[in-house]
Amino acid sequence: MKNKTINSARIPLYRDAGFELTDAATTSKAFAGEAKNEHEPELYIYSRYRNPTVVAAEKEIMSLEGSKWSLLTQSGMSAIDIAFSIFQNGKKVRPWLLFSEIYGGTISFAENILKNRRGLDIRSFVPVNEKYDLRAFELLMKSLRPEILYIEAISNPMLIVPDAEAVIKIAKKYSAKIIVDNTFATPYLWKPLMSGVDIVIHSATKYFSGHGNLTAGVLCGNNISYMKSAIEYRKLAGHMISADDAYRLHTQVQTFSLRFRQQCFNASRIAEILVRSEKVNKVWYPGLKGHSTHKEALKLFGDKGFGGMVTFDFADTDGAEKKKRRDSFIKAVSGSIKLIPTLGDPRTILMPVEAVWGAKYPEPGMIRLSAGFEDTDHLAKTIIHGLQAVK
Ligand code: PLP
Repeated sequence: MKNKTINSARIPLYRDAGFELTDAATTSKAFAGEAKNEHEPELYIYSRYRNPTVVAAEKEIMSLEGSKWSLLTQSGMSAIDIAFSIFQNGKKVRPWLLFSEIYGGTISFAENILKNRRGLDIRSFVPVNEKYDLRAFELLMKSLRPEILYIEAISNPMLIVPDAEAVIKIAKKYSAKIIVDNTFATPYLWKPLMSGVDIVIHSATKYFSGHGNLTAGVLCGNNISYMKSAIEYRKLAGHMISADDAYRLHTQVQTFSLRFRQQCFNASRIAEILVRSEKVNKVWYPGLKGHSTHKEALKLFGDKGFGGMVTFDFADTDGAEKKKRRDSFIKAVSGSIKLIPTLGDPRTILMPVEAVWGAKYPEPGMIRLSAGFEDTDHLAKTIIHGLQAVK
């Protein structure tokens, strides 16, 4: 049966594993085209290589990040693997420098895969007093001359915002390629490619999907030779997203800006409530004047917002007491705010930091909240109720 054209305004969901190539001449043509690694092939061959539903979803993300290309993958981690791997060409490469306050999975990937298995020289740049020092950074760049610099626009869980434009300028001065994980800031707050970075990646599992119902990753860029390398690596490593997930992502990403604006608004309302409570010791939110990188956040994001994440800790001098307070807060809000270890969900969710990352962070009672896009007043009441329950 041949497909006839249907009068639908939606994108079709092509679940084909392999596409029909009819005869040997068409097959040769399809494979010759495939070898060019173009973003949108004339003839599709096999869904691990390219799929039209995936390409349609990629175009939505290209318009959000303002990129010439974007490539979807089955998780944020596979996007990170591709972003790093396209710069590893078998030849000896100079050191790779990663800011230390980045997603824990990326740190483990760099340590266990890039360093221990692939033998790369991985270095890290650490902030002082929850802030990256630009002079120390420039000195390190000058002495190390790294091949790659890897940063996040908003770190996790202390929400440190680097002076990214200055960092990029310095990195370019020393000829480093720059990769930015823009998952927390999103293109709503900042478009790193406009500042000249080489690759932007996202865990699309988070704000782009926005509904906590799929895992996906994406790489975006403007350099066509990086795109071709990334297409080849995605195909050979099998990092392709499924057509079903790409279809859902295509739908969900269309409401991204609406959702994220409300998430930023809700996060700032939560932060204001927390910072006024005597039950709370410290609130980490880049929108607050007291945050270590409030100035950097204002410089980078302007008046657009400060992201949807808020971290806080309970007032007490004793660590065990802080944890008790944390637990009573979690219990009191559990009807509305669930403990779910992800972020960017429709509803506000939370995570006890110490239970996930151990004693790495300064305060044992820390809670990381991911603001949802639910009704702000209802959310505010829930937070106030949670704080009242803390004795
Ligand atoms: N980058 C950041 C900032 C993240 O928070 C995460 C996951 O939490 C990832 C990357 C990895 O994404 P995924 O879980 O979709 O593989």
